[in-house]
Amino acid sequence: MPEPVDPERLAQLPLDKLVACHECDLLMHRPALAHDEKAICPRCGYELFSHRHNVVNRSLALVLAALLLYIPANFLPIMQLDLLGQASQDTVWSGVLGLYNTGMPEIAVVVFLCSMAIPLLKLMCQLLVLLTIRLNMGRSYGLLLYRIYHHLRDWGMLEVYLMGVLVAMVKLADLAQISLGLGLACFVGLLLVQVWLEVVMSPHQIWVALSGEDTRAGD
Ligand SMILES: [Zn+2]
Repeated sequence: MPEPVDPERLAQLPLDKLVACHECDLLMHRPALAHDEKAICPRCGYELFSHRHNVVNRSLALVLAALLLYIPANFLPIMQLDLLGQASQDTVWSGVLGLYNTGMPEIAVVVFLCSMAIPLLKLMCQLLVLLTIRLNMGRSYGLLLYRIYHHLRDWGMLEVYLMGVLVAMVKLADLAQISLGLGLACFVGLLLVQVWLEVVMSPHQIWVALSGEDTRAGD
């Protein structure tokens, strides 16, 4: 656990030896972490940063898994609906087209951006950032892409989309016969892989590796 800084000694300390808590702004001495250790704020308990083992390779494996799941998640049927003898299979993409064709182009664009385009852009940014670190080339572009990724994070809303699907299924369960599709399994898999990726891809280590201060991030 890092030690809080004595305010009287603050002026003598170099800035790169200090770290501030994102949650409660407590200023602390930056601790040196070993593998799989994490620094916790002593005041509010927020995880300041952690040093995870083999971050780049593990994150790359997860990004590739997510990209593989992306296509079936969006283009295989999420569910099949049987209503009054009529069966329809719905995918995320057919949902976007359906909205567009029924006179709601603005909503179609928002759904397309939040559930398809931005999640894909986020994954591509993560992939390229990790490759620049792994191959040790073009880190300035990696830095730019990682900044873009942090801006995009707020706009990819797969979780919201999944909630929408679940609510629709509960509401429609009494009216129609619903069978779940392979697309839904891929969609849930994609969400889980992305959550796992958020945990593994420690931002602190990625920023440090991109700025070239530490060559051990690939360890
Ligand atoms: Zn704190």
